Amino acid sequence: MEKKDIRSLSYRELEELLVSYGEKSFRAKQVYEWVHQKLVPSFADMTNLSKNLREKLEEHFCISPLSVVDKRVSQNDGTAKFLFQLQDKRVIESVLMKYKHGNSVCISSQVGCRMGCRFCASTLGGLERNLTPGEMLSQIYEIQRNTGERVSNVVVMGTGEPLDNYDNLISFIRMLTDEKGLHISQRNITVSTCGIVENIRRLADEKLQITLAISLHAPDDETRKELMPIANKYTIQEIFDACNYYFEVTGRRISFEYSLVEGVNANEKEAHKLGELLKSRLAPNAHAHVNLIPVNKIKERNYRHGAESEIINFKNIVEKYGINVTIRREMGSDIDAACGQLRKSYLDQSNS
Ligand code: SAH
Repeated sequence: MEKKDIRSLSYRELEELLVSYGEKSFRAKQVYEWVHQKLVPSFADMTNLSKNLREKLEEHFCISPLSVVDKRVSQNDGTAKFLFQLQDKRVIESVLMKYKHGNSVCISSQVGCRMGCRFCASTLGGLERNLTPGEMLSQIYEIQRNTGERVSNVVVMGTGEPLDNYDNLISFIRMLTDEKGLHISQRNITVSTCGIVENIRRLADEKLQITLAISLHAPDDETRKELMPIANKYTIQEIFDACNYYFEVTGRRISFEYSLVEGVNANEKEAHKLGELLKSRLAPNAHAHVNLIPVNKIKERNYRHGAESEIINFKNIVEKYGINVTIRREMGSDIDAACGQLRKSYLDQSNS
């Protein structure tokens, strides 16, 4: 039988478990710290617990619900891509990116995805299942253990739609930011969504200080529908209303991701429309930030980005509307680091 994943237990659940084993409730703090702060590889390492308790835990639980099956390090920029295998043999990917301001890990929130964005490799096989809080945490823990690097920023921008796995996402964030765990600052966590409106509002009500990133990718509903099926469900106006609510409740600036796809959303016309949209529909002091992502080619689709000069021109136009714009450069292009590509090539290989 598959052992249960101890990293998915909240502090309260761990306390209940230990009390049911006849232990005092303060033991929970000790076990929780071994699991979430010291990141020990086995129960045998939990030296302040009785042998009996260590054995009991060992019998019912595993320490990590995932193991490294592949790791690739970019020669260009040190970006490291990890392919992890879960207990049910499914695979997910995560990326460690090194920046001057610290190390950032990009994690997956689901195995596959059901959102169907046209340019995204992660959604081609549909959704297989949600990841548990322990599986999300473990991507960060195992990268930290494997590389010896301290992780200071986490972006939930890997495979999956985090707001389609809402409850597990919230447990994950609470555990990751808990002072008894890695204690990563809420401000250093970014959650990226294709725009599930009800859950943006729910997230606002959690009153977390995380950054919300919206995958906008188009300045009007018609163009958005060409790229993202979710646009048939929610209009840009509904998303902006939810963003304004998020800003009102949390005071946090919202980021917008915009993947530039030549011939679809990357002309001067769209740049003006985007500037206009953000200027007129977003609360005046919400200070939108736009991240332009020249679309990464995936072999299943013909989408491509335009020339460098067109990308810069697009940026300049949007900036004229008083909006902060950055261009996100592809990292680790020599190791299939972009958007679900390593997992995809692994699956393609093992199926052939
Ligand atoms: N489901 C979440 C997180 C997914 S991926 C979301 O939709 O936001 C993070 C970002 O990468 C999203 O903005 C996504 O649209 C974008 N993305 C996915 N595939 C891409 C590609 N091939 N090129 C450029 N951006 C891509």
